[in-house]
Amino acid sequence: MEKIIEKLVSLCKRRGFIFQSSDIYGGFSAIYDYGPLGIELKNNISQLWWKEMTQSHENIVGIDSGILMHPKIWEASGHVGAFNDPLVDCKQCKARYRADEFSDDYTSVNWQNEQCPKCGTRGSLTEPRQFNLMFKTHVGPVEETGTETYLRPETAQGIYVNYQLVQGAMRLKIPFGIAQIGKAFRNEIIARNFIFRTREFEQMEMQYFVKPGTDDESMQQWKKNRFQFYINHLGLSKSKLRFHEHEDSELAHYAKEAWDIEYKFPFGWSEIEGIHNRTNYDLLRHEEFSGKKLSYFDQQNNDRFLPYIIETSAGLNRMLLTVLTDAYWEDKKNNRTVMKFHPRLAPIKAVICPLVKKDGLPEKARKIMNELKTHFKIIYDQQGSIGKRYYRQDEAGTPFGITVDHQSIDDDTVTIRFRDTQEQNRITINEIKTIITNSMLNL
Ligand code: ATP
Repeated sequence: MEKIIEKLVSLCKRRGFIFQSSDIYGGFSAIYDYGPLGIELKNNISQLWWKEMTQSHENIVGIDSGILMHPKIWEASGHVGAFNDPLVDCKQCKARYRADEFSDDYTSVNWQNEQCPKCGTRGSLTEPRQFNLMFKTHVGPVEETGTETYLRPETAQGIYVNYQLVQGAMRLKIPFGIAQIGKAFRNEIIARNFIFRTREFEQMEMQYFVKPGTDDESMQQWKKNRFQFYINHLGLSKSKLRFHEHEDSELAHYAKEAWDIEYKFPFGWSEIEGIHNRTNYDLLRHEEFSGKKLSYFDQQNNDRFLPYIIETSAGLNRMLLTVLTDAYWEDKKNNRTVMKFHPRLAPIKAVICPLVKKDGLPEKARKIMNELKTHFKIIYDQQGSIGKRYYRQDEAGTPFGITVDHQSIDDDTVTIRFRDTQEQNRITINEIKTIITNSMLNL
């Protein structure tokens, strides 16, 4: 099963989805760059999420806060003191591990008895030491302590510190939500499994502000909504999705209740999104550190309180890996690899191919292309045999192949080829747009 990830990594490179960062310098660990198809796919996923949050829900609005913020924010949030992973080194081979990979309860492990998984030496592992995951940086030209801040490790805090401004500007009444998509940075000790865990990534977070006492009900609702998103919007296999509830020992310092949505990756069940009841912890801490009152005033009931927050926190890159894994299909019968993306996610919706490079076919194909490209991401390809052109697009996950032949000149028809079945039909040029549009709606 692990092999599938290796195959996916090479397909992603070959077809222009994802590249290792700084490739010509030998690569830069745990950072990835998104190529022409990768960025289209990533945008399609994030737009679906954004639309689901800010368009489907009238009481959810968006913001885009800075990556760099006041350093006190990270003291208040607890990240300076507690955003640590326990690090263990092998003195023999220098391999590095997260202590909780050995045991969730790593504090009771006798490290003298442990064996290094890489070199096999017993007794070579150090005692765990805490390692802060935030990237430090300096603001301004002089590197003094007063100028130190951090690259944000989560987008959530940018929402909390702006919540009153947003609420006032948009005249929002509780319950309401604020959504944000943006980069986050974590100096992960070990990064593996391709884009699953990286040091720079994107989060899609929505913080839902509710009246204390209604938080449990809201948590239930968001759990349901978010699970459905993966099935109804991304079209993922239901059998590969499940919930995992955090036990008391796993709960973050701010959380009252936490659930992960997990996906069955080739390397095992792993978290793709967290849904957390963060209580009023963050707002309380920001009140304490900023000296500002952050309560909400309910005019109708003449009631003032500090809202509770239900957070839905998803990683865009992990969601993308989920979509890639779910779509990967080796069609052994036809000796081809196909990315079976739902058409609404596919980076390219159709390829337009003139059968030959003469007899007016390229011109006819270009005309079709020019009309369709105002509606969809379409590409034109006249290179190589038609079979090779289709197989290239199967790997790119392009749902439709449109071939323009000599008959097209006479009667304005083309052949349309369906990626998954390889079935081919003769249709009129006017029908292409409707077929693509309908395929993107259906789920
Ligand atoms: P993990 O236990 O996997 O480190 P976490 O519990 O620390 O994740 P959260 O802080 O809840 O994760 O972050 C919310 C979401 O952000 C995760 O579900 C995941 O999709 C994404 N995410 C977190 N860390 C990373 C990372 N290093 N690379 C890619 N995505 C990440």
